[in-house]
Amino acid sequence: MRKGEVKVTILGSGTSTGVPTIGCPCEVCRSPSPFNKRTRASILLSHIENGTNLVIDTSPDFRAQVLRHDVTHLEYALFTHTHADHCHGLDDLRAFYFWSRKPVDCWIRKDHAKDFRARFSYVFSDTGYLGTAPQIKLHAISAGHFKAGGYDIELIKLPHGTETTSAFRLGPFAYATDFKSFPPEAIEKWKGKLEVFVASGVQFKEHRTHSSVPETIELFRQLEVKRGIITHLSHAIDYERDSRNLPSFAEYAYDGLQFTVEI
Ligand SMILES: [Zn+2]
Ligand SMILES: [Zn+2]
Ligand SMILES: [Zn+2]
Repeated sequence: MRKGEVKVTILGSGTSTGVPTIGCPCEVCRSPSPFNKRTRASILLSHIENGTNLVIDTSPDFRAQVLRHDVTHLEYALFTHTHADHCHGLDDLRAFYFWSRKPVDCWIRKDHAKDFRARFSYVFSDTGYLGTAPQIKLHAISAGHFKAGGYDIELIKLPHGTETTSAFRLGPFAYATDFKSFPPEAIEKWKGKLEVFVASGVQFKEHRTHSSVPETIELFRQLEVKRGIITHLSHAIDYERDSRNLPSFAEYAYDGLQFTVEI
């Protein structure tokens, strides 16, 4: 495994609608706190030594997110699944090609690739002009270990309603979003291995296709996570009010949260 320091940026910490939710009069949606303003879920990994950038998912808010963090180049993208809130910012990869003249290497699970190609058929057809479509190179992957952008990554498949989602582990760091639960074999795989784990927990109440906040905290316990960061948050969570009730090893994500990990 390659050793290197990586800066992780939470580009977006919100559930599929984002927070505020359009038209919602609730206290969190109307809150002036920047910690309650959540764009759709995505993270950026910037390798400190070699300067490469990797994103997990390209949310519909991708353009605003990369502008906010002055991301001027992007080499790699991993996709967790094909729901709109995780990949519909794909078109905005176009701009990176103007400067780099290199396609962005993208990794997605084999069984997600068909839907991905259908959603973005124009990306995979020859338009005759490179500027009209994002220039990407799609790599199909399966559960298990694979290499991407020089990283050794472990992919595990998790249930998400009628779908499944891909969770990624890079050494002691992992990102898992849009899962209902971790099956026992997934717990076995990652138990004791995670120093920092960013995982979704959409609301306090049980959800049909997502892990709830209490379930995600219990998952951190089971996996013996040192620092658990809960993301993909809905308007049920008020950052300041609800942070007080978290155990010491858990915290809520917010847009722009940054930390470094040794991978
Ligand atoms: Zn989602
Ligand atoms: Zn609301
Ligand atoms: Zn989803």
